[in-house]
Amino acid sequence: MNIILLGPPGAGKGTQAQRLVEGHGMVQLSTGDMLRETRKADTPLGRQVAAVMDSGALVSDEIVSAMIDERLSGLASDTGVIFDGYPRTEAQARSLDEILAGRGRKLDRVIELEVDEDALVTRITGRYTCASCGKGYHDAFEKPRQDGTCDRCGGHEFKRRPDDNEETVRTRMAEYRAKTAPILPLYEARGIVRRVDGMAPIDTVTASVEAILADV
Ligand SMILES: [Zn+2]
Repeated sequence: MNIILLGPPGAGKGTQAQRLVEGHGMVQLSTGDMLRETRKADTPLGRQVAAVMDSGALVSDEIVSAMIDERLSGLASDTGVIFDGYPRTEAQARSLDEILAGRGRKLDRVIELEVDEDALVTRITGRYTCASCGKGYHDAFEKPRQDGTCDRCGGHEFKRRPDDNEETVRTRMAEYRAKTAPILPLYEARGIVRRVDGMAPIDTVTASVEAILADV
């Protein structure tokens, strides 16, 4: 089983990927993580990646392809793979097809965790935590029982993350759409895209993802 997992920040992609890794022994291949790991390795590819990254240049598609191929070569053929953050362009998508074919694999599903942008804004901008014990709260969904007092530790100070503001959320959504726009039509045409409501409770999302994988 080889899948691409898509979803904007806040859709719960990380949680779902983690559950697939733990529940199905799948391997998550994130290009960012792979680059960091590859450059640490004392291999020709590792040295090449280090040189490019140190120069400040973008790592080429060829290098990323080589890196993915190297990772796949080390996996048992029945180990499923979750691609995260890759591909970003149609050229990379076609390259991924070739790499997978070369390893006797194919892309089975592209699963997108969908979010309603306005609901996501509410979800993210409403969250805050107790400054003392870190317990999480939400303006709309989980207020302290007594206003201004932490349920767990009785603290009175709360904090919000600076990134949890509407502008940042909307900017990230726009970036996400721009990143996925080039590849989604290709996979839509193949009939392998499935969508899941990322705003549903986490366990419901997991059940939907499981159902999609069971149907491959
Ligand atoms: Zn507290």
